[in-house]
Amino acid sequence: MVKLTINGKTVEVEEGTTILEAARKVNIDIPTLCFLKDINEAGDCRMCVVEVEGMRGLVPSCIQKVSEGMVVNTATDEVIEARKTVLDLILSNHERECLTCVRNGNCELQNLAQEFCLDDIRYKGERISGPIDDKSPSIVRNPNKCILCRRCVSTCKKLQGICAIDVMERGFASKIGTYKDLSLNDVNCTFCGQCIESCPVGALTEKDSVTEVWKALRNPDKYVIVQTAPAVRAGLGEEFGMPIGTNSCGKMVTALRDLGFDKVFDTNTGADFTIMEEGTEFLHRLQNNETLPMITSCCPAWIRYIELNYPDLIPHVSTCKSPHQMYGALLKSYYAEKEGIDPSKIYVVSVMPCIAKKFERTRDDQNGAGYEDVDAVITTRELARMIKQAHINFVNLEDSLFDDPMGEATGAAAIFGVTGGVMEAALRTVQEKVTGNAFEKLEYESVRGEKGIKRATLQMGEKEVKVVVASGLKNAQTIMEEIASGQADYDFVEIMACPGGCVMGGGQPIRSSKDRATIDIRAKRSEVLYNIDEKSVIRKSHENPVLKKVYEEYLGEPGGEKAHHLLHTSYVRREKYNLNDN
Ligand code: SF4
Ligand code: SF4
Ligand code: SF4
Repeated sequence: MVKLTINGKTVEVEEGTTILEAARKVNIDIPTLCFLKDINEAGDCRMCVVEVEGMRGLVPSCIQKVSEGMVVNTATDEVIEARKTVLDLILSNHERECLTCVRNGNCELQNLAQEFCLDDIRYKGERISGPIDDKSPSIVRNPNKCILCRRCVSTCKKLQGICAIDVMERGFASKIGTYKDLSLNDVNCTFCGQCIESCPVGALTEKDSVTEVWKALRNPDKYVIVQTAPAVRAGLGEEFGMPIGTNSCGKMVTALRDLGFDKVFDTNTGADFTIMEEGTEFLHRLQNNETLPMITSCCPAWIRYIELNYPDLIPHVSTCKSPHQMYGALLKSYYAEKEGIDPSKIYVVSVMPCIAKKFERTRDDQNGAGYEDVDAVITTRELARMIKQAHINFVNLEDSLFDDPMGEATGAAAIFGVTGGVMEAALRTVQEKVTGNAFEKLEYESVRGEKGIKRATLQMGEKEVKVVVASGLKNAQTIMEEIASGQADYDFVEIMACPGGCVMGGGQPIRSSKDRATIDIRAKRSEVLYNIDEKSVIRKSHENPVLKKVYEEYLGEPGGEKAHHLLHTSYVRREKYNLNDN
């Protein structure tokens, strides 16, 4: 342990701790901007400078380690003036359109400008500008709002192992760029959206779909159905000031009804269909010794990743569509027929924690019923925006339930939003089908938890089944290399592009660098979904009465011809342009 003094307070911390972390332990806040714990710790922006007695000049507290007897001052006149100058310089080169920016109210730069009471921008002059990249269906990059903090670059490179973006040029000409300045749409970006979650300002955002959803809601010829993914209910409340880890499912359903949707359904029901189809496909492959391991397919950023990076391994990927696409196909076929609604009038909106789902919606072979399975995808953040635009007092809403008959879902489906959840949900069904026994304990602890890669061996009757769960694309790469080199002997692989799974998706509420460093956001949001599962009356997908009915009345056997036509898809090989090709 090391003892030091910060602003006259004595603090004892472990050796190797930074001044920034030590200060937080005694409730002294040091402002940061480029700092992102474990991802971008470079001390570049100098916003976190402090004075250390005996050291020359000001030192960046995010990288300076503590030492015994150190005396630190975090708020001297010189320190404050230095931070103001840094802020002033950043703002002088920033497109200051706060009022019309989607990050208005949740921007780390705006907060700092407020905190430091800046009344004028002292430095006026030339500004770097560049074209907005909005070509992709998922992500928009506005270089005019970029403050060059590099948090996105480190996230893409270090966390995801992708390297779709990097710092180009030098000095004043520095900018964040891509391979040959191409759109993110045309390089090796997977649309995971983790860079958006990391960006402190509005330089990276999702592609807006709110406008088109309002248009559909106002069109009397449209029958507008909304479905919501499991992770949305674990994050939405945060947009309205509720604590991280609040289950806002009931209020969300009420708000969606108040917004004017004709039906409010649960993508969790779609997730149950995914388990039935994926479980059946896995069993078929296992029993017939066909292309193993089988890899899950419900994460579209992961699908884009394998198409770009390991196209030869595509046959390992399950052909199942993701839950919301499956559900959309069923709404425009089974549900339309049953309710006597013209499917061409049905407009399906998916609320997702994800920006890659926007891209997935536009892929080929996602139109099982002859119409696009899903017509619009909005993120958790976009739904919050719609609720705010409609002046709905979210926090005070009463709870309500999803609509019948397509709104019933199991606990297994709820945990789809957490890394390991798809695997656990599938195992509950597959293990029972293989052994013929109903298991009392449904929790598969070996695939739960925060580790990026979780391996387990399970006994299924006579057979030993080896499974692995990976979240985050860097971890996915490790597993792919094992499979490609022939070292792996897995049977079943779950991959989610976002570290921690969809609860930490690129469309979820954006938390500040400080929140990310001091709160286990992943654990709190995941807990919401595990609690829903634990309290569910039905916890296995194959026991969902909605599924039983739909298969009986309409689809036939899981994995059968009709199910295949509506609920399965295909993949393509993609050209890979990345910065390493430069
Ligand atoms: S795009 Fe955002 S995260 Fe990336 S460097 Fe610019 S401001 Fe930082
Ligand atoms: S969306 Fe993901 S892959 Fe694309 S630039 Fe951002 S972090 Fe990289
Ligand atoms: S992990 Fe979930 S949120 Fe992230 S890209 Fe995949 S499906 Fe989307």
